[in-house]
Amino acid sequence: MRDTTPIAAGEVWLVGAGPGDPELLTRKAERLIGEASVVFYDALVGPEVLDLARPGTRLVHVGKRSGRHSKDQKTIDALIVEAALAGERVVRLKGGDPSIFGRATEELDACRAAGVPVRICPGVTAASAAAAGIGASLTLRGLARKLTFVTAHARAGEELSLDWSGLADPEATLAIYMGKAAAGEVSRNLMAAGLPGDTPVALVENASLPSQSVLLTRLDLLGLSAKAALGDGPALILVGQALAVAGEAQALAGAARTLA
Ligand code: SAH
Repeated sequence: MRDTTPIAAGEVWLVGAGPGDPELLTRKAERLIGEASVVFYDALVGPEVLDLARPGTRLVHVGKRSGRHSKDQKTIDALIVEAALAGERVVRLKGGDPSIFGRATEELDACRAAGVPVRICPGVTAASAAAAGIGASLTLRGLARKLTFVTAHARAGEELSLDWSGLADPEATLAIYMGKAAAGEVSRNLMAAGLPGDTPVALVENASLPSQSVLLTRLDLLGLSAKAALGDGPALILVGQALAVAGEAQALAGAARTLA
């Protein structure tokens, strides 16, 4: 259902801010940000996106980066509900798509429990931006028929508990969110579950931003590569045969540069 009605007082929209490049914001997101009286935003939402708010709109940073939680989820839920009940037009801006590893359910539940109307505006998720950044497709006819979004973020002090044998599918592409710290563990476990060490891997940091960096490597080198190549920015790990195409494209571009 197409919904173009302006945000009403007392209403909440969970809005996808996309991966960073403000041009990857949807037109609906842009409109909603412009209509908001208050915007609660994540750490990964950049200043150019926030600039779309009207002058006078309250911009509240509620960002969480791993290890540096500035506000816990319950506090964020409470802030959003409180603002809506006070009659504000609330936009909750989340990096990428709100429904992918974005704790959207907690916020939806909190709103609904308080009788606050809440809706979702989808966004471009980091995996899509990362694939675009390396000029590759996430799926590949006949070779990568399945695309798995997985988070490799473990709770503090806990080991990653993932279904490694399910993930080690040679016909799938894995898009691993929050996987930087666990890259070595991911590599060891996927290989132990049978995925070949030479499976292509792409590491994409700051996808869609001017600071984007890309490293094409292989599964057995993933741990080392992540340590050596990744900085402080958000990074996505892509694993699977579909990524071989990115390596070929890069080799061709390199060859073209050498010839030029
Ligand atoms: N809802 C977001 C994901 C939130 S989890 C989305 O749909 O994209 C945060 C993780 O997303 C980061 O740890 C990183 O793995 C990934 N991520 C977000 N923005 C990114 C970017 N610009 N480049 C690479 N990875 C990114």
